[in-house]
Formats: sequence, structure tokens, C-alpha cells
Amino acid sequence: MRAWQFEGAGKPIALNQVPEPEPGPGEVVIDVKAAGLCHSDIMYMESGGASMPFLPMTQGHENAGVISALGEGVQGWAIGDVVGVCSSGVRPPLGMFTPGGFADKLVADAPDLARVPEGLDLALAALATDAGMTSYHAIIKVGRASAGMKVGVIGYGGLGQIGTRAAVLAGAEVHVAETKESVWDLARAAGATDLVRDAAEWAGRKFDLVVDYAGFDTTQKALDAVKRGGTVVHVGLGLPTFTVKAPTILGRTLAGSLGGTVDDIEEVFDLLQAREIEPVYTEIAFDEIGEGLERLRRNEVTGRLVARFGD
Ligand SMILES: [Zn+2]
Repeated sequence: MRAWQFEGAGKPIALNQVPEPEPGPGEVVIDVKAAGLCHSDIMYMESGGASMPFLPMTQGHENAGVISALGEGVQGWAIGDVVGVCSSGVRPPLGMFTPGGFADKLVADAPDLARVPEGLDLALAALATDAGMTSYHAIIKVGRASAGMKVGVIGYGGLGQIGTRAAVLAGAEVHVAETKESVWDLARAAGATDLVRDAAEWAGRKFDLVVDYAGFDTTQKALDAVKRGGTVVHVGLGLPTFTVKAPTILGRTLAGSLGGTVDDIEEVFDLLQAREIEPVYTEIAFDEIGEGLERLRRNEVTGRLVARFGD
């Protein structure tokens, strides 16, 4: 089968032929139908070589497809079921520690499967499993965005667009900071109250919550924007470290949010199915994954890139 694989630092991701996987006990094999491209894939490529247990490593951790084989002891799932795979579940992170879904087939642990509702487009289902789950978990489960809250969202990309919409649906007043002005109209259409280029403009605004989906030197700006008792949720890993002024964290909560759960994914599936969330994404072909990652690295992508595999 075909697989896009990381072969080592400084080398381009390579399209290789690899053996088809067999399911172990408690595992299923999925024929991948759609795979989202994520900034983490690039982070793995840049920093991953040392921490990956073996090379080459098939990348991709945002997947939806159809179950084609069941391992021993798997219950509640059948061949032909349409599923998404939780990328932060039981199995070590896909595409980093175990082979991911930029391949024709993928092995997943049965407890990491989310059931795709009938009729939901599989490109949308794929992006729900990582961009959707991660953004939703951060703003709804960790940040507890709810009616009446003033919420700041930093970064209106693949995650920020879903986080913004989830908070709007929860009844919050949502402010967005995004340098790329070309997406401001999309943010307004999703229900954002106002937009700024730089979250520094929010200083003293006394927001209840700021969720930082960028992490590009933005943590201090987020802390300066929240009121006493307020919360900053850090999600984006734009830069590997940040510095903050110690007094500005006193009386505030700085939390990190990583991934999410199968429940989060299924809640996002329902919002997508009801068209309450309509994320912007561009479809590419399987063969274009390597080039797509380069576009992502150059920050040329609006929303999400999703590779759709031929049937
Ligand atoms: Zn990701």
C-alpha cells in the first residue's frame, strides 16, 4: 500500500510502498478515506526524528475511513463501519510513535474509534478528529466557554475557526485576533464580534477566557487580556517556549489543553452534521500530501487541507 513517510530530519516526506497492516488483539484496520494535514505533522518532521521509535514513520493523525478488518476480541464494531480515529486516545500518538493515516490503511485501537453519523462527509469527519476535537476540547471542556462570557480567540486557522464557532454556539461573545486579514470576513460570518490583528490590543479588556490557538509569542498578550479570575488556555505550539511576567499570572489560570476524547469528536460530528459548524477546508489528492505539507509550512493555507483518497 502507499504511505507518506518521514525518513529523517532535513529530508522531504517520501511516498513509499509498505506492507499492508494486520490488526492485533483489540485493534481494527481502517481503509483511510480522508486525512487532514496538521501543523503538528510539520513539527514532528522538524523535531521528531529523535523521539520517533523507528524510521521511516508514516505520518498523519487526522483520519476517517471504513473498517476493513477486526482483531481478536473487538466488540461493538463491524467491517464496513464508518469511523474517525481519536489521535490522542489509547494508542500512542499516530504519525509520531505509531504509523499514521497518510496511508491507504491504518491500524487503530477500538476504544479510539468515533462513529461517523450517516451522511457526514468524510473530509469533515477527518478534520473533526484532530482540528475539531482539539479546538472544541480546549474552549468548551477546559476553558468552559458559556453564555455571557467574553472570550478571546487567538489564531483563526484550522483550529481557531472551529473553536470560535463552538464558543459562539455556547452563547459567548467572541473576539478574534488574527494577523491574516483575508480571513476576517469568515470569522465575522462565524459570529465573531470584532477582530484585531494583534492580541496586544486587548490589554485591559477583562475577558473571562482567552484560548490561544497560535502560541506565537502571544501568551503574555492573552494574560494581559483576561480579568482577575480569568483563564488562558494554551493550545498552539507556534514557538517551543514562552516567557511571561510573573505578576501577570497571579490571580489568573494558565492552562494547557492537549487533544481531546472520543466524546468530543462525536459532539463535533453532531455539530458538523447539523451544519452548526461549517469549517473552511480545501481538498487535495493523496499524491499531493507532500506538497500540501510544504504549503502549510509556508502558511499559505486558509482553514484546513484534507487529502481525500480515491475509492
Ligand atoms: Zn494535529
